[in-house]
Amino acid sequence: MTFTQFPLNERLQRAIVEAGYLEPTPIQAEAIPIVLTGSDLLGTAQTGTGKTAAYVLPLLHLLMSNPREARKTRALVLTPTRELAEQVRATIKALGRHTTVRATTVYGGVGMAAQDRALRNGTEIIVACPGRLLDHATRGAVDFSGIECLVLDEADRMLDMGFLPDIKRIINLLPRERQTLLFGATFAPELDRFAAQIMTTPARIAVGESAPATTIAHAIYMVPAQLKTTLLIALLEGITSESVLIFTHTKDRADMVAKSLTRAGYHADVMHSNRTQQQRQHTLDAFRAGTIPYLVATDIAARGIDVSTVSHVINFDIPETADTYIHRIGRTGRATRSGEAFTLVTRDDYDIIRLIERSLGERLPSNVLEGFDYQQTVTGGSPTLVRGRAAANGGRAHAGQAYLSSPAYQAIIASVRQTGSV
Ligand code: AMP
Repeated sequence: MTFTQFPLNERLQRAIVEAGYLEPTPIQAEAIPIVLTGSDLLGTAQTGTGKTAAYVLPLLHLLMSNPREARKTRALVLTPTRELAEQVRATIKALGRHTTVRATTVYGGVGMAAQDRALRNGTEIIVACPGRLLDHATRGAVDFSGIECLVLDEADRMLDMGFLPDIKRIINLLPRERQTLLFGATFAPELDRFAAQIMTTPARIAVGESAPATTIAHAIYMVPAQLKTTLLIALLEGITSESVLIFTHTKDRADMVAKSLTRAGYHADVMHSNRTQQQRQHTLDAFRAGTIPYLVATDIAARGIDVSTVSHVINFDIPETADTYIHRIGRTGRATRSGEAFTLVTRDDYDIIRLIERSLGERLPSNVLEGFDYQQTVTGGSPTLVRGRAAANGGRAHAGQAYLSSPAYQAIIASVRQTGSV
């Protein structure tokens, strides 16, 4: 299938070619014709599937087809995080580059004044996080009377983050007559109920339901907790690509891991909510440009990070839920690229591994880094490393037969087997 098969405006077709999109992704193939009819849509799709363009393209087409009073806000996109808001705006900007349609982002953590001015000047599309948008709305800075389309992007995550009351208040301010599009990676009963309240006989599509993009190869690495940093560095030795996203459980741990990587000579930075919006944007831009190859992030900060070149996601700390696992690894293997997802697993993590495997419907293959000394002791915070073996394996760490039969590995496996997991 090609994009030219969609009745999309020629100016959008040109931008699609310039963006380098060769053919629609499955969600685009399904969603674009539905949205073009003006129907409501409930889409199950995780990030990395091309879902942003799946709604941005038909939305731009509809706005261009029915011109209205200039500078009247006609579409509202709600997102859980500012990073996702910025990415949606970037997609609108790229795909709408030959149109006059403009988008403004609105989110907390930055001053109100510039956003206030942009809103009062008028903009066709507002991309916003719910809390800050409501602040502006209560000050009378937003005119919702011309809204024709509402998009709830990553709606499941917005509910998880407690935005439901704010979203309901915003929806009460919108015209009842409108198109509503709602996307989520998973649909809990609460989200289903909410969708039923705000949508009219929506079309339903599901792409890669609750499963990661098929281009991702997973592996878990069992490791004693005190050797996590050492193993991480040893794994990085074997990764030739220079765009690696590493997740930790907390901000402190993100700082700690980034510091250890820097000490070991890896150019790493952190992304978490203690950093200002400017710092986060700067880091994200540098990561996207490849000048910072290793980014250590917490879940909230990394939500929606759209860097299509991420080759590896490494869960330094295991995610707390299967959903978070799927979201995290959705950062790699985006669209048509392939990626690898490694998870460092300690004894305490077996229950979560079991949940993740149940959710994925498959076992996560267990790898061992060949040549890594699982029995070493860590001294003074500067771990000793067994270096180089993985790199010699063509950049891929894999389970070596010799190591698989070694006492150290057998001891780890035995302790895992006892718990009945992996
Ligand atoms: P999303 O799931 O919307 O976050 O998109 C994931 C990535 O896929 C982004 O980097 C997009 O620019 C890219 N992308 C979206 N649609 C296509 C397509 N049809 N072909 C190639 N890349 C795409």
